[in-house]
Amino acid sequence: MDVKVQSLIEQFGITEQTREFLAKPKYMYIDGQFQSDLDRPTIAAINPCTGGKITEIPLGTAADVDTAVKAAKHAMYKGEWSKFSPRDREQALRKLAELIRENAQTIAEIESLDSGKAISGCKAVDLNVAANTFEYYAGWATKIEGSTRDTSFPVDCVTYTRKQPVGVVGAIVPWNWPLGMAVWKMAAPLAVGCSIVLKPAEITSLSMLYLMELAEKAGFPKGAINIVTGKGSVVGNAIVEHKDVSKISFTGSTNTGKIVGQAAISRVAHATLELGGKSPMIAFEDADIDALAKNTLGSVYFNAGQVCSAGSRLYVHRSRYDEAVAKIKAIAEGIKLGPCLDPETVMGPVINKTQQDSILGFIEQGKAQGATLVTGGEALASDGTFVRPTLFADCTNDMTIVQEEIFGPVLVVIPFDTEEEAVELANDNIYGLASSIWTKDLSRANRLIPQIDAGAVWVNIHDPGDPAMPFGGFKQSGIGKDLGPEQLAYFLETKSVWIKI
Ligand code: ADP
Repeated sequence: MDVKVQSLIEQFGITEQTREFLAKPKYMYIDGQFQSDLDRPTIAAINPCTGGKITEIPLGTAADVDTAVKAAKHAMYKGEWSKFSPRDREQALRKLAELIRENAQTIAEIESLDSGKAISGCKAVDLNVAANTFEYYAGWATKIEGSTRDTSFPVDCVTYTRKQPVGVVGAIVPWNWPLGMAVWKMAAPLAVGCSIVLKPAEITSLSMLYLMELAEKAGFPKGAINIVTGKGSVVGNAIVEHKDVSKISFTGSTNTGKIVGQAAISRVAHATLELGGKSPMIAFEDADIDALAKNTLGSVYFNAGQVCSAGSRLYVHRSRYDEAVAKIKAIAEGIKLGPCLDPETVMGPVINKTQQDSILGFIEQGKAQGATLVTGGEALASDGTFVRPTLFADCTNDMTIVQEEIFGPVLVVIPFDTEEEAVELANDNIYGLASSIWTKDLSRANRLIPQIDAGAVWVNIHDPGDPAMPFGGFKQSGIGKDLGPEQLAYFLETKSVWIKI
């Protein structure tokens, strides 16, 4: 471990469990074993606050994916996992949620160090997302059902449909919510009895490896969950192309999602793709602008803006435009940037230098294209990859910063005059992940909900979340849904059964 990371740890302290976990060498988790015998090249896990190395993560190979898929297949069709009753699955999922809550401080420390997330937000949001999602799908394990059908077929038959798990699930997740997104991918398939081969993002694998220690304690048998760490082009690609992976569940960028989706369809495998976003917020003349400004802390300024559903485009009625800009500026300037482990920190760094450079590049483009930089717009002088919360006014829809996903703490503001214009501007984007409407007039909100081209429309709030509510985009934001009962359907095949009597 680099001395810079050590001194960060010494300054803020971590639990003894976190220390022990970080001190151990890291191995992939396949067939119920941490693979200490595999000699693989490694990639450094870097702490984004300091730029220092935390530990090393093995770079898996296509052969490791094959071993993991074989283990997953055996577990699901022949091994102990195949013998788990719905109630057994429910109990294992519930136990895992309980262990996440019991070990919340340790998981938050690991996640915060690895991803740079402010530990306060990590505890308040990421940990609850994970535990709540496992608990929600635990409840579904015992409620999978088909239906009997009355047919008009001339021969007497008993006819019914039967739901059964789709097979081995290949899950590929990004670095912005390493734990949360992975749990979104794991909970529903485990509830219905699928087994999983999951690849974390190569730069944020630590929380998944820790989670496997808890999964063992929760009673998941070998092969039910397998973690293969490594690169997207190697491990991710091998998962997508493996003939025995029946279903791909992917969250990441739209560009990578297109590659993954094409590879999956070329061998007729199911794929759910949760991709990018550039989600609009539309504030009318009667909007509560104070509430909207405050909500940016839970959306575009949360997690340093690395949130796919972030409200990153704000359309405001011209009569409230100046007020909105002034109030959001005050919020943005009040955000405390700092080291991830500091409980007082509200915003940590972005994930790495590549991402920081990309965000700063967008900011330069915004300035060059004539947007007014109201606040932020720069990096901090620090070893960490911090970007100040940024607000652009006087934007127009043709600007790059209005059209493209920046995936950083950057909000753009655009005025409008009529309701029709607002909807047109909001829909004028390749993405359609989420949106919000800010108005006291619920008749207007209801009128607009069907007109907004997005997988979610929130009214007077942006970025709420609960496992009961499906999440997934329209247009280039994706195919399919995570969460809710809707997600279960992606992991179940329907079998038509006819029995002549
Ligand atoms: P980002 O641009 O935010 O890093 P990506 O979409 O590239 O997001 O990555 C999301 C996940 O997809 C990561 O786990 C990454 O390693 C993986 N990945 C990247 N390229 C591929 C690929 N060709 N096939 C499968 N997975 C990939």
